[in-house]
Amino acid sequence: MIAEQTYLKPKTLDEALNYAREHAGNFSYLAGGTDIMANRFHENETSRCLIDLSAIPELQGFRTDENYLRIGSLMRLDDLKNISAIASEFPALLEAAGAVGSPVIRKTATIGGNLLCENRCIYYNQSQWWREAAGFCLKCGGDLCIATGGKKACFSEVVSDMAPVLISFDAELDLMDTGGNKRIKLEDLYSGDGVKPRNMSQTAIISGILLPLSRDFKAVFKKLRQRQSLEFTSLTTVVSVDEANKVKIALGGVDPKIVVVEGAVGDDKEKLISKCIKGARAVDNDMFTRTYRREMINVFLTNSFRELGI
Ligand SMILES: Cc1cc2nc3c(=O)[nH]c(=O)nc-3n(C[C@H](O)[C@H](O)[C@H](O)COP(=O)(O)OP(=O)(O)OC[C@H]3O[C@@H](n4cnc5c(N)ncnc54)[C@H](O)[C@@H]3O)c2cc1C
Ligand code: SF4
Repeated sequence: MIAEQTYLKPKTLDEALNYAREHAGNFSYLAGGTDIMANRFHENETSRCLIDLSAIPELQGFRTDENYLRIGSLMRLDDLKNISAIASEFPALLEAAGAVGSPVIRKTATIGGNLLCENRCIYYNQSQWWREAAGFCLKCGGDLCIATGGKKACFSEVVSDMAPVLISFDAELDLMDTGGNKRIKLEDLYSGDGVKPRNMSQTAIISGILLPLSRDFKAVFKKLRQRQSLEFTSLTTVVSVDEANKVKIALGGVDPKIVVVEGAVGDDKEKLISKCIKGARAVDNDMFTRTYRREMINVFLTNSFRELGI
């Protein structure tokens, strides 16, 4: 495990961004630490400086902002259940949060950290000596993808369970950065490149997550995993439908980015499913085979449509 040489705990966003500017290129932000510390243990994350965001009040809590519910990025997954607007308008979000890790992890892990947890692959989430013995792959400085034998692309999978459900609700993000602030659609955060899976500068901080209120969403969340108790996803599917009969499907765990397919209630469901399967670039880098996970997309989506009555 790499020990940090500098540990900083800013009390404001401005202070955090100043530290980020000062240590650009060799620091990482820390929120709950449940993902980044595991990666540091495996020496997949080696920044010498950690900037702990946990004491910044602007990143805490929630509020209603015009027609949005704005959740601070430091909100712990276990605390989401205390927000009545989530229970009434977005219950699938609570189901997804409840499917992350274990009770202890959910009491520590934040929603912002969840959206940014590192992509995973059975050849990457291994100790340094394991990876050295097997030969480093594209994601850790090598020149070959072990999973595919190819030299060009890494297909490590995005495993955030919160991202698909938030995307299905058209969530947006507030990003604060050294060069200014911006609001983006959550689905645009994910690049599709397994080596650098986020379209986000190193210094940017997610300050809040925005959910559109009063669209009367209904959604079905499903997660494939080997153990129901504590396991990263091998496939997460969410299907939402809103009052305008828009259908939005988001898949996690089968591609370096969240796969998103949109349609309408009247659309041919088989065509929507086949679009999802085509979009999912799953490879054999998971405990379940690629073939099985792709078949399960069909099973999960067919059942979700039935449960939604569409
Ligand atoms: C045993 C185990 C099981 C797990 N199971 C699951 C699971 O089933 N589903 C799942 O989705 N995840 C799972 N995780 C991964 C992880 O615990 C969660 O994704 C968690 O929500 C990460 O949040 P965190 O606050 O701990 O993030 P951290 O580990 O603190 O940070 C994660 C990343 O986000 C960055 N970051 C954090 N907050 C911000 C911010 N506001 N702005 C900019 N950058 C930021 C950090 O620099 C880091 O790169 C599991 C982890 C473990 C150890
Ligand atoms: S998909 Fe290939 S390049 Fe990416 S982490 Fe896995 S083995 Fe490495």
